Amino acid sequence: MRLLRGAEKVLPSAFRTPHHMKMRIVCISDTHLVHRDGEFSIPDGDLLIHAGDATYHGTQEEIREFNAWFAALPHANKIFVAGNHDWGFQLHPEQSRAKLAPSIIYLQDSETTVDGLRIYGSPWQPQFGLWAFNLERGSPLRERWQQIPTGVDVLITHGPPFGILDRTLSGRHVGCRDLHAEITTRIKPRLHVFGHIHEDAGRHEQDGIMFINACNVDLTYRLAHQPFVVDLP
Ligand SMILES: [Zn+2]
Repeated sequence: MRLLRGAEKVLPSAFRTPHHMKMRIVCISDTHLVHRDGEFSIPDGDLLIHAGDATYHGTQEEIREFNAWFAALPHANKIFVAGNHDWGFQLHPEQSRAKLAPSIIYLQDSETTVDGLRIYGSPWQPQFGLWAFNLERGSPLRERWQQIPTGVDVLITHGPPFGILDRTLSGRHVGCRDLHAEITTRIKPRLHVFGHIHEDAGRHEQDGIMFINACNVDLTYRLAHQPFVVDLP
């Protein structure tokens, strides 16, 4: 014990803890105001990512309530991407974005850098009914994915890629084939965080990419999963 303590003193601060060598990323999605449930607890980390569907209807009131909760979380870096429920960000973008505290980075077909990690976020998903940020499958979605720069380390989309954690209760894969193709053949991020399909939350590693469906609620919008934590070297 004494030896260890002595060694710690002479080491430069950068080597003192292995924590400096990796970034702890906490992933949440489809929270649908479930923070009202006291059992939802967010672990500490260097970066907190929310992959969309923070609200039910995306009203200004709901966005204000989401912000009050999200902004108060202690993480040094927080990123939010909108989902199909978060209508305000599509219908009233300026008003809605202004409701987010300055500590929250909002990404919509845009990129940011956190501690050297390049992170890109996009809210779009394949058309189903009348929802926010819906686009037809095929070229409208493909064009969005083609905008994602090569070299991005972390990709955040609200919807899943086809075939990965995108299975509905009926067993059908509903993710986007074009997103899957862009990710696996060109973008190759280290981490892809998404949500949208509540019933297929989980993590899956393939071809050196960690995929996380970070949905926290189930089909009845009740808390079903605590946040997913990843340590990126
Ligand atoms: Zn949802």
